[in-house]
Amino acid sequence: MKGVDKMECPKCGRKCFEGVVKSEQAGRLFSEGTMLTWTPEYEKKSVIKKDKLNLKKTGSGYYCQFCEKVYATFELSEIQSIFQG
Ligand SMILES: [Zn+2]
Repeated sequence: MKGVDKMECPKCGRKCFEGVVKSEQAGRLFSEGTMLTWTPEYEKKSVIKKDKLNLKKTGSGYYCQFCEKVYATFELSEIQSIFQG
């Protein structure tokens, strides 16, 4: 994954600082059962999300200090496939 650390901000094009993004224990709101998921835009408001992907809870994050945003990449927690037509 060398070379990815030169990630540029998709918004302003400046160089981002590489780091780690993860879900952490925060009081009682997070528990061992906490999941990190990705949902496609068309299912964003659906109650039942069948095309959801489960992600690993730790990923690479790229922070842009000018936009004050973090862009992150997460690997899938297991082999999953959607969009099979
Ligand atoms: Zn930026």
